[in-house]
Amino acid sequence: MIIILDPAATAAQRDELTSDLKSRGYGIHLSEGVERTIVGVIGAIEQDKSSLVEQFEALPYVERVVPILKPYKLVGKPFKPEGTVINVRGVQIGGGTLCVMAGPCTVESPEMLFETADYVKSVGAHVLRGGAFKPSTSPYSFHGMGEAGLKLLAEARDRTGLPIITEVMDTRDVELVGKYADIFQIGTRNMANYSLLREVGASRKPVMLKRGWASTIEEWLQAAEYIASQGNYEIILCERGIRTFETYTRNTFDINAIPAVKELSHLPIFADPSHATGRRSLVNAVSRGAVATGADGLILETHPNPEKSVKDGAQSLTFDQFGQLMNDIRPIALAVGMKL
Ligand code: PEP
Ligand code: MN
Repeated sequence: MIIILDPAATAAQRDELTSDLKSRGYGIHLSEGVERTIVGVIGAIEQDKSSLVEQFEALPYVERVVPILKPYKLVGKPFKPEGTVINVRGVQIGGGTLCVMAGPCTVESPEMLFETADYVKSVGAHVLRGGAFKPSTSPYSFHGMGEAGLKLLAEARDRTGLPIITEVMDTRDVELVGKYADIFQIGTRNMANYSLLREVGASRKPVMLKRGWASTIEEWLQAAEYIASQGNYEIILCERGIRTFETYTRNTFDINAIPAVKELSHLPIFADPSHATGRRSLVNAVSRGAVATGADGLILETHPNPEKSVKDGAQSLTFDQFGQLMNDIRPIALAVGMKL
């Protein structure tokens, strides 16, 4: 359940309430909005709920108590109706500004990474992406440069000022990746790796949680709840396509997920048209569609020479195509009331 405090409630009243709840054994999560504070109460047993609603609603500084029936509570819309806005080294994510993350699938060498970082920065991207620990369906594929790749990403950040997002795949690597990354990426294959979700939830770094390729929206939101349950509310959801019977495209981009997530959750929602389509010729149109339906941002693969890319070359944009895409999404972002 959530307890919505009166806008006039004082900090002392909030603390009195939370210590009372804690002494009863409940987990407490605070959402401090501009207007009012919302207290998330986790762990109230079913029989207790109606009497708790009555007790807390009687307090003069409580506006309303809302039982939450959904299996996700902290990432649900009622917990933060104004929406989550994340600030990463001055880059705003959510809150009406379109954010573009771009870079290669995988860090391959200093030259290609720096060239890509300089280019995406020059055409207005906000965050640099690049994998150092790569998940692969085949055990024989390239699995990334590891820490050497993280060091190159950090160097690219120093050159360009762009914050970096990179994937973490294993609980044992969270500390190491966290030393370099500004945003953790949890890939589709690990969306339901609950120990990894808990581990990044215990960190205080933003996390991009990609949708599992065979997961429902509700399962995905519950995965996000694992992260939030550890006290980390800086979560970005990313629709990257799901598995269907279609084989022409690598995945099927579920455009419904964008407005659906907006309805259900306060978390920013991104689209990854690169992995959703698997074909660079389709990435521009799908990106425009995602922006038109209200996505808070895009994450895109681009490479100085996609034909030579170690991974995901078929879906990586050339620099010219990426620059064109940045121009093409601008009027659409403005038309739907976003800043870019
Ligand atoms: C990636 O971003 O390169 C990646 C592997 O993404 P996903 O987990 O969506 O397949
Ligand atoms: Mn990739």
